Amino acid sequence: MTEDILQVRGLSTRFFTQEGQVNAVSDLDLTIERGEVFGIVGESGSGKSVTARSIMDLIEPPGEITEGEIRYRNADFAETVGDDHPGAVDGEFVNLLELPPAIRQSLRGTSFSMIFQDPESSFNPTLTVGEQLAEAVEVQRRASARPRSTRARTESEEYSLGSLMLSTVLPSKKYVSDESRERAIELLELVGIPDPVERADEYPHEYSGGMLQRAMIAQALAGEPDILVADEPTTALDVTIQAQVLDLLDDLQKETGMTILLITHNLGVIARMCDRVGVMYAGEIVERGSLTDTFDEHVHPYTEGLLGSVPDLEGANRRLQPIPGNVPTLLDHEMEDRCHFADRCPKAMEDCLDHPPEFDADERGDHEVRCVLAERDYDEGRALPPDYFDETERTAADKHADPDRTEEDVQPERTQSPVEDSGGGGL
Ligand code: SF4
Repeated sequence: MTEDILQVRGLSTRFFTQEGQVNAVSDLDLTIERGEVFGIVGESGSGKSVTARSIMDLIEPPGEITEGEIRYRNADFAETVGDDHPGAVDGEFVNLLELPPAIRQSLRGTSFSMIFQDPESSFNPTLTVGEQLAEAVEVQRRASARPRSTRARTESEEYSLGSLMLSTVLPSKKYVSDESRERAIELLELVGIPDPVERADEYPHEYSGGMLQRAMIAQALAGEPDILVADEPTTALDVTIQAQVLDLLDDLQKETGMTILLITHNLGVIARMCDRVGVMYAGEIVERGSLTDTFDEHVHPYTEGLLGSVPDLEGANRRLQPIPGNVPTLLDHEMEDRCHFADRCPKAMEDCLDHPPEFDADERGDHEVRCVLAERDYDEGRALPPDYFDETERTAADKHADPDRTEEDVQPERTQSPVEDSGGGGL
């Protein structure tokens, strides 16, 4: 029987920038079952990585998680923190956002671990790969020995602030212990690095991109985490190496039963790796369900658009159907209270001018869609004219620029919409 290991409820993450408030993630719900691979897919700027970083507690100012719950199921952890933080605990679940930052951080490595997009910037170039893996092993061992105590990580001489600063200036090749070195070599072997004993003593620049990505996966596995968050783990790699890294993740998941949250813009990766999928657009999950729900029985026109823009080798003569326009900037003052996809949607109707809630797309209750088409058929008679948003958003942009102007003051000859102007986001 499967059980939920992570429940995200009503999560909102904002960035308070000079240009205004950016609604990177809005009211996001997500449930991940133990041992499954859950994928989040969407264009750049849709909020995928911010969702991953929110779950990993890696949001830094000017960003902030402003609302929601991140509920992690771990009975031992719930018992450990229950006395001091009873409001955070609900049975075997702990709402991580109710805990102090130090306790949340102590979960990194042993409960949650992350593989980043760019392995080259994730390793210290002045230390060998083996030393860095051994250090991860040591940190996790200390955290496990005294769970949830950040002091445990720094109380020994090897991990004191002084030694940390010294090692930054004068990196040493000394391993913390023989055991951690051996474990580092085991981890390199586990992820398929050839000659792991020799390779452990090499520096990151001596590794190829694919090998370094494998080493980063090894580092993420050092603490045997419950949940591995993989944020575009193959984006920086060429196609053959991508396939090898995906095979490796697939094998490791099957071997260990680990839960994986996979973030990608690539539907091919989703089809190959995932059990269930959330399609993300403008900071929201707009369609969520099994692979069959998403690929064969999708309802949301954005999911349809993503699938239509994927090259198909079997239908080599088929023309790709790109989705017109760009992802919105997510600036609060530019976001209307309507379906955020409406200005790009070929089926936008009058009904879409209210922000749609999540609807059940079928009676099973595990295929959810944020689109009115889950409730009613497309009605051409209620379709919005093709230039509807050019007109309305021009008016809104001009009003924002000069709040004293009236609609009559707006110049009709302007043609470029602010959405086209934005060029999408980089979140
Ligand atoms: S709610 Fe309307 S505009 Fe939005 S995706 Fe559905 S049909 Fe298109």
